[in-house]
Amino acid sequence: MCIINRVKTNQCCGCSACVNICPKQCLELKEDKEGFLQVRLSKHNCIECGLCEKVCPVLNTKEEKELEIEAFAVKNTEESQRKNSSSGGVFIALANQVIEEGGVVCGAKFDKDFHLIHDFAQTKEELKPLMGSKYLQSDMKDCYKKVKNYLLQERLVLFVGTPCQVMGLKLYLRKDYNNLLAIEVVCHGVPSPLVWEKYLEEVCKRKKISLNEIENISFRNKDKSWRVFNLKIEGKDKTILKESLHDNLYMRGFLQNLFLRQSCHNCPAKNFNSMADISLADYWSIDRFHPEIDDNKGVSAMILYNKK
Ligand SMILES: Cc1cc2nc3c(=O)[nH]c(=O)nc-3n(C[C@H](O)[C@H](O)[C@H](O)COP(=O)(O)OP(=O)(O)OC[C@H]3O[C@@H](n4cnc5c(N)ncnc54)[C@H](O)[C@@H]3O)c2cc1C
Ligand code: SF4
Ligand code: SF4
Ligand code: SF4
Repeated sequence: MCIINRVKTNQCCGCSACVNICPKQCLELKEDKEGFLQVRLSKHNCIECGLCEKVCPVLNTKEEKELEIEAFAVKNTEESQRKNSSSGGVFIALANQVIEEGGVVCGAKFDKDFHLIHDFAQTKEELKPLMGSKYLQSDMKDCYKKVKNYLLQERLVLFVGTPCQVMGLKLYLRKDYNNLLAIEVVCHGVPSPLVWEKYLEEVCKRKKISLNEIENISFRNKDKSWRVFNLKIEGKDKTILKESLHDNLYMRGFLQNLFLRQSCHNCPAKNFNSMADISLADYWSIDRFHPEIDDNKGVSAMILYNKK
């Protein structure tokens, strides 16, 4: 049976695994009225092969299980790399290593219109736009297919995404590859891309600028501190906006869960369902458990699930 009949709109997390696997290209992702990508039938030529159901995170959740894990508090020793990362800068340390070994890295970056997409980096320079947490949902496009192609070419691949995106990838691949390292960022939900678009429109109107004058956006600017971070929007030679998480309207709405995707309230990838090799999170309570490490510049919590 086709997935459209089995997964409700409020359950679908928009991972795009079904769209990537469909042999007849009869599925597509289209924006709903809040800007979230939802799966739709694009052509009526379904052959009822059932592949879309086999790769869907919503239809393949498992019972909570006991896992052997190791957990670390991690700080990147390169201060500039840590400063430009959301927490301890683990992602960029691992990504640099993968590039040095001739591998490819897949993560989330802004396109020229500040829509979030998943894309690949093959050089250290191309890693820069992938750094940092962006608080909206990324469009996976055909990245799962491309990841598989790189794996079959025996390239080392580092994939980073939300737990549901990692779960979508793992189900899409349907076997474990030794040359894949899959990292999930601990995620409490992704906000509406339409709210983000409207927010940016409002900033441009208020600051009397056009969107193409914006050069860079950081959701986790650490100029003041790691804990009280800023949302910072920069133009070519100037700061257009810099507001702390407590003052910024977009961040306040996000942190109060006002405009998250509906599936995030019943996440299919929770309880270690994602099959990630590593989880990364902000180690917010480091000052209580290891005050000797804390310098208010960012520490990551890193959880390892296997020997990889
Ligand atoms: C939407 C979202 C919600 C989060 N919520 C929490 C939380 O509630 N608690 C917590 O402890 N940590 C949360 N995190 C994770 C945390 O903010 C850091 O991303 C993580 O600790 C890694 O930090 P880092 O310094 O090692 O690397 P960073 O350089 O910050 O690397 C972040 C990595 O995540 C990828 N990424 C960024 N944005 C997205 C996105 N929207 N979708 C998919 N991949 C993305 C980037 O490509 C990069 O590879 C969240 C992250 C995101 C993206
Ligand atoms: S059942 Fe097969 S052909 Fe039909 S939508 Fe799913 S993957 Fe495509
Ligand atoms: S959760 Fe992913 S695989 Fe399942 S229907 Fe939605 S987009 Fe398709
Ligand atoms: S909360 Fe779950 S469903 Fe929502 S984006 Fe994060 S991993 Fe995906």
